[in-house]
Amino acid sequence: MLKSKKTILITLLMLVGILVIGMQIFNYAISTDFMVSRGIKQRNIQRVEAYEKYLQVDEITVVLVGTAGPMNPDIAQNSTAVFVNGQFLLFDAGDYAQKRMEQFNLPSESLDAIFLTHFHNDHIADLGEVMQRSYMIGREKDLVVYGPTGTEDIVTGFNLIYAADSDYRTEHHGEEVMPKKYQFATAKEFDSELKEVVVYEKNGVVVTAFKNDHPPISPTFGYKIEYDGKKVVISGDTLVTEALAEYSNSADLLVMDIMNYDLVTLMEETYKEIGDDQLAKIMHDIREYHPDVKDVAMMAYNQNVKRLALTHYAPAAPNKSMLDRFYVDPIKMIYKGQLFAGGDETTIVIPLGD
Ligand SMILES: [Zn+2]
Ligand SMILES: [Zn+2]
Repeated sequence: MLKSKKTILITLLMLVGILVIGMQIFNYAISTDFMVSRGIKQRNIQRVEAYEKYLQVDEITVVLVGTAGPMNPDIAQNSTAVFVNGQFLLFDAGDYAQKRMEQFNLPSESLDAIFLTHFHNDHIADLGEVMQRSYMIGREKDLVVYGPTGTEDIVTGFNLIYAADSDYRTEHHGEEVMPKKYQFATAKEFDSELKEVVVYEKNGVVVTAFKNDHPPISPTFGYKIEYDGKKVVISGDTLVTEALAEYSNSADLLVMDIMNYDLVTLMEETYKEIGDDQLAKIMHDIREYHPDVKDVAMMAYNQNVKRLALTHYAPAAPNKSMLDRFYVDPIKMIYKGQLFAGGDETTIVIPLGD
């Protein structure tokens, strides 16, 4: 008996020893010159594959880059990528958007244009990083930022903030390698008094901005992207409005901000209970900003929206069970189309030609 215990102990020690030595060999192997070179080559292959996957296909691909509102540290703030007819259009660029795009292997260097819905921080915080990083990764074309009146100030501000960095890099690497002109973005703002306006047209892709309702914020817009008979609507931050319903009618995809008023009420009461009056007040006020799940579900149902993707969860659901209870289940009780209630990196493909 004693002997068998000793044998087990020796076997266990040997296994631990083998494991430790194995990990050391593994750690050494992944840091060899060969592995470093291999990593660079693999990344290059991935970039080519990403370009083909998103920009050389007969389909519209929408990737939810960031799905948080302003107060969630775990996921990226609001940002949605739309790939259509070889064009990469980005709608909003909240905090962490650029890192998310790189983590998801989206072809940042091919970015054509950015569209701003409004100027809340969770929609513009990463604009500078998107401008600069897409350039450093290899963007060799102008980057235009579209948005309502005020966009020019925002873009000029980011250009100013990054001016020193651009100088350093061009002086260091030379104008040929790092031409300064592509490091800065150009603003194209539209009149925020307009109810709707076509802001972008290129090779059959048409983007229309339309006024939404995110009181008391102004200006604030949503966008409609049309190509080859297909329609994608980006709600922006908004309550359900007549215009949104009209634009969403038979949409192939509606990317929609969402709120659960019951959850907000629960949180407001809890903050009051613990004496946090500031957060209680914020919870009280934000109902004016975003639509309740039931309103969204009813609108999507009535307008025959084919696909509904939830974004900008307010408040966020930290686990699947909460996501189902507060967002998925109440919507599915009413809306019978295809529901995407994912998170950062949720991808929706809309085939063309059917
Ligand atoms: Zn927002
Ligand atoms: Zn907002």
